[in-house]
Amino acid sequence: MTRKKPKIIKERVPTPEVPVEERVKSFVEVNLGYDFASAVKEAERCIQCPPEYASCIKGCPVHINIPGFIGKLIEHRDDPKKAVKEALKVIWSDNTLPGVTGRVCPQEEQCEAPCVMGKVGDPINIGKLERFVADYARTHGIEEELLREFVSNGNDIKGKVAVVGSGPAGLTCAGELAKMGYKVTIFEALHKPGGVLVYGIPEFRLPKEILNKEIAKLRELGVEIKLDHIVGKTITLEELLEEYDAVFIGTGAGTPKLLNIPGILLDRIYSANEFLTRVNLMKAYEFPEYDTPITVGKKTIVIGAGNTAMDAARSALRLGSEVTIAYRRGREDMTARIEEIQHAEEEGVKFEFFLSPVEFIGDENGKIKAVKFEKMKPLEERDAKGKRKIVGTGEYVTLEADTVIIAIGLEPNKIISEEASSLKTNPDGTLVVDKNLMTSIPGVFAGGDAIRGEATVILAMGDGKKAAKSIDEYIRKKHLSA
Ligand code: FAD
Ligand code: SF4
Ligand code: SF4
Repeated sequence: MTRKKPKIIKERVPTPEVPVEERVKSFVEVNLGYDFASAVKEAERCIQCPPEYASCIKGCPVHINIPGFIGKLIEHRDDPKKAVKEALKVIWSDNTLPGVTGRVCPQEEQCEAPCVMGKVGDPINIGKLERFVADYARTHGIEEELLREFVSNGNDIKGKVAVVGSGPAGLTCAGELAKMGYKVTIFEALHKPGGVLVYGIPEFRLPKEILNKEIAKLRELGVEIKLDHIVGKTITLEELLEEYDAVFIGTGAGTPKLLNIPGILLDRIYSANEFLTRVNLMKAYEFPEYDTPITVGKKTIVIGAGNTAMDAARSALRLGSEVTIAYRRGREDMTARIEEIQHAEEEGVKFEFFLSPVEFIGDENGKIKAVKFEKMKPLEERDAKGKRKIVGTGEYVTLEADTVIIAIGLEPNKIISEEASSLKTNPDGTLVVDKNLMTSIPGVFAGGDAIRGEATVILAMGDGKKAAKSIDEYIRKKHLSA
């Protein structure tokens, strides 16, 4: 594609958002994304660095050809369908869930952080452009068209693979293998597929419709999904290995870490995972049509400062509570996406920094009524993750609360590793894998949070894709030597 020397436009084209006063009363998606005209306008800000030098590509964990897909929007600006189809083809070679990643990736730390436009103005809005391509393709029949072209033409089934867990790692692995011609069955413990994408991330950030479409796409590819199947309980890993040529474990990190302090067993203290699962899987986001068994009081304190904390805080706010996030470190050490922190603040969530909980205080009925915190102070010294170390000051403060949500981290559940004793784990419970993502059991592969601990959607998807390649090689070799 030949292009005139681009004019530098420093400011990004904004995306509209639902006004604060409207969105705090419902679970509708906050950001409305680009339409075609504004997407092209934003695309035209990209100076189209050659792929071998494009720093944005290096910043994306799965190395999407970003100038490549943006270039298609510019090149075919007079033919929206062609522009989107060509852009989606580029994205799909590295990422099959752009509607999800365009919404939830921490772009400011990944693809957008090193974008050269960031040196003179705003970096290109890569995430929102990726989301636009996915949304337009989904709503204009382009995805179906392209899917038919991507599916393997051969009718021969190359082998059978079991995938455990239907989060982004499992879904990606299953999709890639199905496209290669494998018969894939997903075993999912919950009654809905999607992992954190369905039970964790709320509707106002990731509408369920997007995920439902992705799942339908997988089913069209011939993937079978067995819900309510807990591997390690309903069926063992050994039984799976008898029936399938290989197994992929993508069981995530869904076990919440809790605080070992007095009062932890008081009523209305939730782990963020339990709280969000109730809200998401029991349809609190469709209140008042659905009556969800969750009680949120007038004053909620959320402990933590990652994406999970923001999601829990903003959900509690929408259920009618005043919400305060209490974090033991400072603002600069919060790990949530910047956009979520901004949205939480706009919506009225309050933030208290340098407070570490030491006791939950209950009323005469065993319900939480306040949280006692020690005030912390930052030191100059930094820890291994680059965060400033903190120490207690010996001063205390008590904040009233009739609901507490704990969001201080997650770890892998041990259901499979405890049942299959030859499956090696690290001290933090993550599964041990080699460079091909094979575990200590031949033919059993793993990826996503199950091997990394709490990480990101795109890293889980990258693992799912890599494992699918390794599984293909493993099964081919197995069949050759049989
Ligand atoms: P998961 O998504 O956890 O899926 C694992 C699946 O395996 C689950 O469905 C589980 O039910 C199933 N399973 C577990 N054990 C078994 C078993 N024994 N048998 C059968 N099935 C089993 N990342 C981002 O990039 N951006 C964000 O904005 C973001 N926000 C987040 C918000 C929340 C509330 C949470 C909790 C996480 C967030 N993350 C975010 C992290 C991200 O969602 C995870 O890194 C990602 O989902 C990991 O994918 P996975 O496929 O490895 O596991
Ligand atoms: Fe950026 Fe995530 Fe898309 Fe990569 S997958 S280009 S990091 S939004
Ligand atoms: Fe475009 Fe920025 Fe990537 Fe260069 S670094 S190709 S300007 S998105």
